Amino acid sequence: MLPQDLITQHFRLKPAQVKALKKLGLTTIENLLMHFPARYANQSESVVAKVISQGTRKGWHKRVPMAEMTLEDLSGKRIKAIWFSQAYMAKKFPEGSLVRLSGKSKEYKGSLSYTNPAIELANGTDMTGPLFQLPGNRGLLGNLMPIYPESHGVSSLWLTYAIQKILKSGVVESLVDPIPANILNKYKLPTLQSSLIFIHSPKRESDAKAARKRFSFQEIFFIQLARQKARLAYEEAGAYQIKDTPILPVPFTPTQAQDQALGAILSDMKRAHPMMRLLEGDVGSGKTYVAAQAAYAVVQNNLQVAYMAPTEILAKQHFDTFISIFRHLDISIGLLTGSECRKFPSKVDISGHTHVSRTQLLKWIADGSMSIVIGTHALITESVKFKNLALVIIDEQHRFGTKQRAALTSKTSAVEPLRENTAQYKPHLLSMTATPIPRTLALTIYGDLDLTLLDESPPGRKPIITKIVNPAGRTAVYEHMRTEIKNGRQAYVICPRINEPDPEKELALETKDVTSEVEKLGNEIFPELVVAGLHGKMSAGEKDEIMQEFANNEINILVATSVIEVGVNVPNATMIVIEGAERFGLAQLHQLRGRVLRSSHQAHCYLFTSTESRNSKVLNRLKAIGQAKSGFDLAEEDLKLRGPGTLGGGKQWGLSDVGMEALQNLKMVEAARTEVRLILEQDSELSKHPQLAVVSVLKHHFE
Ligand code: ADP
Ligand code: MG
Repeated sequence: MLPQDLITQHFRLKPAQVKALKKLGLTTIENLLMHFPARYANQSESVVAKVISQGTRKGWHKRVPMAEMTLEDLSGKRIKAIWFSQAYMAKKFPEGSLVRLSGKSKEYKGSLSYTNPAIELANGTDMTGPLFQLPGNRGLLGNLMPIYPESHGVSSLWLTYAIQKILKSGVVESLVDPIPANILNKYKLPTLQSSLIFIHSPKRESDAKAARKRFSFQEIFFIQLARQKARLAYEEAGAYQIKDTPILPVPFTPTQAQDQALGAILSDMKRAHPMMRLLEGDVGSGKTYVAAQAAYAVVQNNLQVAYMAPTEILAKQHFDTFISIFRHLDISIGLLTGSECRKFPSKVDISGHTHVSRTQLLKWIADGSMSIVIGTHALITESVKFKNLALVIIDEQHRFGTKQRAALTSKTSAVEPLRENTAQYKPHLLSMTATPIPRTLALTIYGDLDLTLLDESPPGRKPIITKIVNPAGRTAVYEHMRTEIKNGRQAYVICPRINEPDPEKELALETKDVTSEVEKLGNEIFPELVVAGLHGKMSAGEKDEIMQEFANNEINILVATSVIEVGVNVPNATMIVIEGAERFGLAQLHQLRGRVLRSSHQAHCYLFTSTESRNSKVLNRLKAIGQAKSGFDLAEEDLKLRGPGTLGGGKQWGLSDVGMEALQNLKMVEAARTEVRLILEQDSELSKHPQLAVVSVLKHHFE
């Protein structure tokens, strides 16, 4: 047996089982070894055994009917089970069936006896044969029975059997530990061999813990390795050196944080190698200003900028913002999304923009006459070629995968090489995000980026007032909204869905939807005001029209789904009401709330919860958002209080369950990062660390 052998080479499997294994991501022996238990059941409380005989009889004391069963566990040990006054129990499990008994047990005359245990058919009865081929002892299994994540068709029991067989085969001995021994020693982590045995067959809880810790470290270590290697490779490329030019005057005084961030970016871009920087700033901290200044510097050097945003609304908004900033200058700006192309300035009206054909816009981008191109994913498509792309800005970068980022930064192809080695040039990369994630997660997934924080809001911003409102308080909130709007302000009302019925019926009854909410607010509550709806299913044209009217204060109340969650900027809107607030994640609520944190007016956020979910857990969660100072504090607090589960599942970050566990341990994440840096500093090709050059165990992270 070899680690890379297919499972099917060593186990007889039905097609349904093969499919189920695939669903769990398990095709090779190594995959099985790296499939870790979710938890352990205490063997003395739970046992899997085969029914040898069963029957009922009258108890000799009170003559009540009782059921009796004789069973045999995996090691051939005899087990007796007795149920009083539950005679039907025994009949349900005929001789030969494989069952799991759970309950208190007693050793009696060398056999185990259970009284009134819970009994269930052990899944995967078809595996009865092979399971009973397990050797006379339990193999390596101790008292803690591993419970694996299952999929329909592959039970935890089958996985136990298969993994025990693999462990016994000795294949583990042939595995090379990818983590250098000196690192294991330094952090007191068990070797790969020990860890695999500890995690699948722990004798003690502490063994399992030590093993999980090692695999946690290993996962973060591998991710760091991949990211830092990618960074080294990226940095090897050349880059356009952006010479100092005057900064563009703006109508406000930049914050100190903005000045510092811009300083770091400009000095990065002066170098002959591409920048890789992440600008992390809470909602409303003014990231667009920093992006615009960086773009301006590049344009002054007669080079091109690509600016990618996750939604069409946001791309259009940046397009409008950039036009207003650069209007008086001779700078051409293009908008490229899936549904439209525009260009500024228009030939007929040099202060305005105009629709152009995609072909025409692509031509201008390729010949270099379009200096700044703003767009959505559409920018990544093959047909988009730049003449001399020097800076890529990615807004709300967490919305994009590593692949998409790479696709845009690889757009270096010069149609007419400006300099001899232009083809090897890579654009400078400025990523921006406001997603409040804890520091450990940021260090892990952004391991290849230099971090700049915008930790200061523009002056004059008052802290937002957030209130949780019960159904009785609704009228008062509407009156407050009316007053605000009379004073010239605007409001958002956010609904969790558009108008499709919710699969969960009860929730559907309570959940507001955009279409009916627009009707209700517009006709019944605020007949004197203009109420409009916005949701993701509308066409780009419709969305744009609504956003434009809202920006012009022609709409008083905008009812929307979370499409407005990211980036939308209408400073005059000062109130946001969130319906069904318990249905949104904390990070999302924080982002939504950020929509009204864009001016010096006092902002208000009202969180409406539906009646049935007014339990204390939900309320506490919502209270946390009311009290949090910033999104980052919120994320840290959440991680501390509720664990990594609050980060919305590891998959979204490319992390497994053990990987997510590392996020609660800043020291571990920092250690993994440092060790990788030290290795790469001395051995960038990994020639002295061949086992690291071929790391395959966690390949999925690098895709
Ligand atoms: P975000 O960081 O969320 O992308 P934006 O860049 O959209 O934030 O900026 C939010 C608002 O704050 C915009 O209206 C912008 O013009 C304004 N703004 C940015 N920086 C400053 C500043 N230093 N002083 C005053 N207003 C600012
Ligand atoms: Mg923004």
